[in-house]
Amino acid sequence: MPYRIPIRMIQRKSKMLCFCAVTVLIFFGIYQTFTFADSTRTPRAFGDDLENEIKAIESKIRILEQKGSKKFPEVKFLTYKDRKRILITGGAGFVGSHLVDRLMMQGHEVTVVDNFFTGRKRNVEHWIGHENFELLHHDIVNPLYIEVDQIYHLASPASPPNYMYNPIKTLKTNTLGTINMLGLAKRVRARLLLASTSEVYGDPELHPQNEEYWGHVNPIGPRACYDEGKRVAETMCYAYEKQENVEVRVARIFNTFGPRMHMNDGRVVSNFILQALQNESITVYGEGEQTRSFQYVSDLVDGLMSLMNSNYSLPVNLGNPEEHTIMEFARIIRSIVGGDSKIIKKTAMEDDPQRRKPDITRAMKYLGWSPKVPLMVGINKTIEYFQNELRRSRHSERNFHMPDTLQI
Ligand code: NAD
Ligand code: UDP
Ligand code: UDP
Repeated sequence: MPYRIPIRMIQRKSKMLCFCAVTVLIFFGIYQTFTFADSTRTPRAFGDDLENEIKAIESKIRILEQKGSKKFPEVKFLTYKDRKRILITGGAGFVGSHLVDRLMMQGHEVTVVDNFFTGRKRNVEHWIGHENFELLHHDIVNPLYIEVDQIYHLASPASPPNYMYNPIKTLKTNTLGTINMLGLAKRVRARLLLASTSEVYGDPELHPQNEEYWGHVNPIGPRACYDEGKRVAETMCYAYEKQENVEVRVARIFNTFGPRMHMNDGRVVSNFILQALQNESITVYGEGEQTRSFQYVSDLVDGLMSLMNSNYSLPVNLGNPEEHTIMEFARIIRSIVGGDSKIIKKTAMEDDPQRRKPDITRAMKYLGWSPKVPLMVGINKTIEYFQNELRRSRHSERNFHMPDTLQI
């Protein structure tokens, strides 16, 4: 009670004080503007200045807006009925990112899950922000709960130096990771395609390799984490198919190359091209008599998509049957790139498969698929990509590759 009157008085006084202060400030501002502040400025000049400043701010806003608003390649429109929700594990990697491009261009909703062990965000950077695209930083060794219609399961290191770097992680990714993706497929009734490999044939005694061949793998050698990891991943697929009616597709992928291979990937195509481009020695492991057959990445993407959408559920080889020895391949790269790199022999890799060439009869028969891109065409595109990578990394610019159809 005793404090009521003084408080009201204080409130009234402070309101009056505020009112007086604001009035004085307004008058002082007007006075400054039109008289002393700048004797050279007339009210019109002041108005002009203000207008110029507003224009400058507007143009800055426009620049910021342009930086923020991103142009995306024109994607096809699919109706709700035709549009699928597609998960690509390992979608920020070399093969995965090309698959992302194709499925996005077709108008599907694509979710990429990647832990960025060997993949890079910039491989899919051109889709970030698109309403049909989502990038999840996630390790598939841990469970994943999302809703999808199809799963392309590509997550796994693929180059020998990468998968040998942490063999336990390679095993976990291919075993626990595959179980998780199959569990997800089972829960949401999605179809799952496994990116398996010609390595399931090991160092093969049958040549060329067809899908009936059971393989020749050293279960305790340096490549076992990958080879056996993929073999058990295949086993898991067929167990889920048999026991849980999960629809599975298994692609046995043979050596694939193209733009977006990692510079430090360590695989033969990227190594030889980068060595030749920099006039370094081209390193052939062993005598170079071992063979490989190389397919260009766009052919593989065609094959993966045909397999996913086919009714065929047994394993299918996807590769280009054109076979070369590694020594021949070193000479081919040197002759296309030019320069005067020497070809030198280094210690042979342990358990290195000696001959590899796919029998693609099954893919031709059930998918109507065969590779289209000639080796030289693919090699030239890949050389061009690595030339750019070298140029740009020298100038420490950011660089990312978009296929021809996506140049924007
Ligand atoms: P890559 O290394 O470029 O891509 C693999 C991707 O998987 C990377 O983005 C990586 O970060 C991601 N990844 C790895 N472990 C993961 C994990 N635990 N959780 C989430 N993401 C993970 O290799 P690539 O050449 O694009 O190969 C893709 C797939 O195709 C692999 O499964 C590989 O075994 C298979 N394959 C490729 C070839 C080839 O020549 N490129 C040949 C045979 C099989
Ligand atoms: N899982 C997952 N996402 C799902 C469903 C399952 O990651 O949407 C994982 C789950 O954590 C489990 C694995 O997939 O470890 C296998 O699932 P499944 O249902 O076959 O086995 P269960 O859960 O009965 O052991
Ligand atoms: N290779 C080579 N020099 C290199 C890299 C690889 O001679 O700098 C050989 C390797 O020993 C193998 C072949 O090239 O015989 C293909 O190797 P890559 O690592 O590309 O894949 P792989 O088919 O062995 O999985």
